[in-house]
Formats: sequence, C-alpha cells, structure tokens
Amino acid sequence: MERGGYAMPDNAVVMEPAATDSRLTASLADVRDRLQFILLQTLVTIVLCYQLLFSAETVVSTEVKEFIILGLLLFMAGVMFLPARLWENGWPVVGLVLGDTAITTVIIYLSGNAGSSLYLTYFLVMLIGAFAPSLKQMIGLSVILCAAYGAVLYLDSLVTGSLSEGRLLGITVLLIMAVFYGATTETVRRERQKKDGLLEQINTLKRIEAELQTQSGQDWLTGLANRRRFDEMFRQEWNRARRDETSLGVLMVDIDYFKPYNDTYGHQAGDTCLQQVAKAIGEVVSRPGDLPARYGGEEFVVVLPKTDATGAAIVAEKMRATVHALRIQHASSQASNRVTISIGVAALVPPEKSEPAVLVAAADQALYRAKREGRNRVRSQGEESVGKKG
Ligand code: GH3
Ligand code: MG
Ligand code: MG
Repeated sequence: MERGGYAMPDNAVVMEPAATDSRLTASLADVRDRLQFILLQTLVTIVLCYQLLFSAETVVSTEVKEFIILGLLLFMAGVMFLPARLWENGWPVVGLVLGDTAITTVIIYLSGNAGSSLYLTYFLVMLIGAFAPSLKQMIGLSVILCAAYGAVLYLDSLVTGSLSEGRLLGITVLLIMAVFYGATTETVRRERQKKDGLLEQINTLKRIEAELQTQSGQDWLTGLANRRRFDEMFRQEWNRARRDETSLGVLMVDIDYFKPYNDTYGHQAGDTCLQQVAKAIGEVVSRPGDLPARYGGEEFVVVLPKTDATGAAIVAEKMRATVHALRIQHASSQASNRVTISIGVAALVPPEKSEPAVLVAAADQALYRAKREGRNRVRSQGEESVGKKG
C-alpha cells in the first residue's frame, strides 16, 4: 500500500496568483501574443527580402544585400528563439523596432524611390511597436519611425529637387496611424490592467476564503473537520481520556484504489466521490464528541471518545458497510466493482507520559493490514478482524 501519495492540503483551494504585470510586453510570454508578434516580424522580413532580392529598384551590390538579409534573418531568429522571460522587460521589442526601422529606411533609400509603396512596411513595424513596454516608448518609436521616413523623403528631394504632395501624404498617414495605434494600444493596455487587477482580487479573496476555512477548522471540500482542527481536538480528547481513564478510539479510513478511480472517472468525479464518502462517514458517527475529520487526500480519521476497541470496530464496520451500500461504481477497483474503504482501528486508555501520536500510529498499522489483506475490510490493532469482505 502506498500511503500519502497525494497529500492534499486542507486549504488546497489556493490558486496561483495571476500574472499581474500590466505591461503589454509581459504578455509576450503568452503564446498567442507571441505568435502575432512572430507573424508581424515574418511579414516585415518577407517584404524587405523580396524587395532586396527581386526588385530592380534596389541598386546595390550583392554583398550589401546579403548583409542586410543576414541582419533580417538574425532579427527573425531573435524573435523565434529569445526565451520568453527576456521579452518581458520589453527592451528587445524596442531594439527590434529600431532595427526594423533602420533596415526599412536603408532599403527605401537604396531603392532610390522614396515614394514607393515599400513605405507601407513602416505600418507593420509600427504594429510591432505596439508591444513596447509603455505608451511613451511606443510614441517615441513612432516618432523615430516617422522621422526616419521624413529623412529619406528629404534626402530624396535633394536628388530630385522636389518633395511631391503624394510623398508628404505618406508621412501624414503614418503620423495619423501612429496616433491611432497609440490610442488603441493604450485602451487594450488599460483593459488588461483592469482584468489583471480583477484576477488578483479574485485570487486574494480565494486565499482569504481558504485561510478562513482553515482557521475555522473546516475542510474546504468535504465540510468535515480539517487536519488542524483534528490535531487540536484529538489532543484535548486524549488528555481528557487520560484524566478520566476512559478508552479513546481512533479509526483511520482510506478509500481503496482511489488513484485508479481518479484515472478512470476524472479528478472532478474523484472529488465528488470524496464528498459522498465523507458524508457517509459523518452520518455513521453521531454521538456527541465523535469527531470525523479529513486527514489528508483521500484519508479520513475518526476520534471516538469513551469507546473501546470492540465498540470502535463496530462503528468501523458500520462505516465500511455504509460506503459499500452507496454503490458508487468503480470499474478499476480490484477489491469490488464499487467504491470501498479500508479501516484501521485502535483504542486505548492513554497511559501517563504518552503522546497521542501513538494511537494514530496504531490505527495506521491496522489500516496497513486491512489493505494488505485485500482491502474493503476493517482490521483492529492487536485484535481479530471484525469486518469481512462484502
Ligand atoms: P489503496 O487502495 O492502496 O489506498 O490505493 P489508492 O490508489 O487509493 O492509493 P492512495 O491511498 O495512495 O491514494 C492516493 C490517491 O488519492 C492519489 C490521488 O489520486 C487521490 N486523491 C487524494 N486526494 C484527492 C482529492 O482531494 N481529490 C481527488 N479527486 N483525488 C484525491
Ligand atoms: Mg491514501
Ligand atoms: Mg487509498
């Protein structure tokens, strides 16, 4: 028998806090955003490489072309292989946009046609800039981008002697788009901040709820006492029994083949089954002072004050039969075709100078025997079996 394979804490409802970094770049760790980002950079790379390789306009030596293409491919590799955590501080995005802007500008300049439709590449680069860490950086990048295009137009006008209206329109559209992107990105950024804030609040509430449940001594899933409460109550009962010289009984209960149950029916069904079994256990012990508790995972412990070994074994057998009678189907159990439990029983009048852990250990050993001898049965420490396979 493997015990404690899945020791679920009593307050296991605690969830991981959501990523609260509100910067857009932080979301580059998010696969979907990363894919958008890769797609944009791929488009920029394709457009620029196409221009270099196939457009007659770009009059430049093959070596320079190869050099630029290599630069573009290195950028691409950076986007693909830079670990997500490095993207998180946002600066790689800034570097990428500056690099793309420089290469685009150089290629437009080399093409000798500043008014060519190649300037549309700037829009793609600007979209990449939307992943910059802050609105300020995005605006800064857009200004640099527009300035770069303005510089090309100016240099071009020095050669041609004129600055056509069409070209000026190009840079105006670019500026308008920069403002538009900026506003849209800021809206998205704020929405994300709001969402992250809400998620954080929800998680905090869940943590508080779990903490309150732990403090109040209740197990969050089954509603039985939790381990913490059990430890407190058990010590109290132990001391009382020692003072009064009465017998204290303990039952250790473990669901049989519960891992296969989860594997067959799913964890959710496993939780429901745990709740049903817990309810049955709670119903069997009804005397005031009796304390059924969730010990951890799919194990329960029951403290029975003023109960000797024989009495405890009778309660245990009733419990075993009650769970069996629930008829919860369990196709992958080797003990039965239903969900069953094994129970270890121990009872004693606490001697002076002894610790309560002794009694739990004894019940645990009895449980071990019940498991080894076929499960779905009750075994008592130092006594004969009182329950038999059903
Ligand atoms: P055995 O008959 O020997 O007890 O076999 P077992 O498969 O029940 O083994 P064990 O007692 O070690 O079971 C531990 C399993 O219980 C691991 C996990 O799948 C399941 N489990 C523990 N806690 C929970 C829980 O809170 N919810 C669910 N669904 N499953 C749990
Ligand atoms: Mg177990
Ligand atoms: Mg088990």
